Amino acid sequence: MDYKVLYRKYRPDDFSSIIGQDYIISILKNAIKKEQISHAYIFSGPRGTGKTSTAKVFAKAINCLEPTENGPCNKCEACKTFKENADIIEIDAASNNGVDEIREIINNIKLAPAYSKYKVYIIDEVHMLSTSAFNALLLTLEEPPKHVVFILATTNIEAVPITILSRCQRFDFHKISLANLINRLKYVVEQENIAIEEEALEEIAYISDGGLRDALSILDQISSNTSKITINDVISHFGSASKKQIDDLYQCIITNNINHFLEIMNNFKELAIDYKLLIRKFLEKLEEEAINSKKLSSYNGLSYENIRSLAFELAEISNYININIEPYLLIQITMLKYFKEPNLKSKEPEIEYKEREQAPKEPEIETINPVLEEEKPNSEPEIKNFEEIPSSEPNVLAELIKIRVNNCFANASKEYLQELQNKWPDFIDSLNNKAILNLLVDASIVAASNEYAIIKSEYSETVSLINQNLANIAELFNNKYNLNYHFIALSPEDWQKERNTYITNKKNNVKYEFLEEPTEIPKKENNISNIEQTALDIFTEAQIEIE
Ligand SMILES: [Zn+2]
Repeated sequence: MDYKVLYRKYRPDDFSSIIGQDYIISILKNAIKKEQISHAYIFSGPRGTGKTSTAKVFAKAINCLEPTENGPCNKCEACKTFKENADIIEIDAASNNGVDEIREIINNIKLAPAYSKYKVYIIDEVHMLSTSAFNALLLTLEEPPKHVVFILATTNIEAVPITILSRCQRFDFHKISLANLINRLKYVVEQENIAIEEEALEEIAYISDGGLRDALSILDQISSNTSKITINDVISHFGSASKKQIDDLYQCIITNNINHFLEIMNNFKELAIDYKLLIRKFLEKLEEEAINSKKLSSYNGLSYENIRSLAFELAEISNYININIEPYLLIQITMLKYFKEPNLKSKEPEIEYKEREQAPKEPEIETINPVLEEEKPNSEPEIKNFEEIPSSEPNVLAELIKIRVNNCFANASKEYLQELQNKWPDFIDSLNNKAILNLLVDASIVAASNEYAIIKSEYSETVSLINQNLANIAELFNNKYNLNYHFIALSPEDWQKERNTYITNKKNNVKYEFLEEPTEIPKKENNISNIEQTALDIFTEAQIEIE
């Protein structure tokens, strides 16, 4: 059967088909155009990034009788006979340490090329040469004849002696970007009529970690066993969890969806997913989330502290492999720590506001946000008011955001949204309170259920101020319309994120379970000096934003 493995079949035959190394290619093309060919090149970089392919295309191009914009013409006699050309000498330093080959080079190097313009020596994995081979190579690199070109390739540039490096023009090949890999894979599956799920293709690109050769080999191996490649084929073949599954796992923790969490974990166990790979990928996810938690104004995943401790606890699991413990057991227990415990709710930070039960008829202006009052901008904020605020504790607020977004989505509908959106301008118009009006004037309702609604506000400072005044806003709104709404505010970025998660969950039939809101305010944490500082911080921010 005339079957060629994909990475050989799709090996580039000119510069245009070398992926993701545009800078290097443009320099090499230029050198050919100007006929400024060096005597020695060294290509360094990770495996599968195109070093050897580029070396071959370059060797072909400099010998081509009618080179084109893309290097070799692939039509002339020199191009057609390139593969059999005895003047192109390939040495793999990894398979032997090369002393004999290098000696042979020295012996033959003076002889002019028999068939072409240049004799080209391509030495792959050059760092593997023995010391004596390096010394022999060095001699030839010092004064090579004009008709000789060396192209050295290595995945470990540090191991190449500086004396060699200093005699070569150096090019550093980079990992091929995920997007470039995906594009190339798409091209190949199209050419080969390989049926593959989009997610599976993306996962192959992800696993290949910037190496095209690996990506094509993986595609090769899996496509020979199945008529249509699915994501499960890829992950079971490679014992790796997909990026989407890792995202889902994290979502389970923040939405407290234990059932779906267990489903995913059982699936991993059945597919015998390598737990080390799982941990590695989950740690990558946590790093991303740690950055988000510090970057996004109202981030509502795990708190940074939780992300950090989960990361360390997971990393530690590898230490226990030797004592014969099923690793999944530990992973599961560790992750479960970050879910909420239903029976211990009362011990959790409490968020609900007392005035819902006590319901003062008219919220007093002072309770809304003393720091926004123009009459006394320099006066001390009144500490008692902060007891009404959900909390100055970022964790408590994050928790509240998580719960309310979840509860809103649990029963959200277009009808509720429309109803609320219709009321909103009327509500804003009716506001006599300037402070609240300032907060809400740029805000809009973006999702609603019968009792929950998400407010989107354009500015992060306003988002956090709205969230500090949720009780008052709800009070005004509910009194006016005789309803019982709970609000929560998000920044546009966070809303976008929540919205995407919601859509994904809908697609995957993930159900939102209604979460109880805690009922008491954590008074003991109301350390006075902290509150004063927080109030002052908010004051500064608010002024900047509102003036
Ligand atoms: Zn040619």
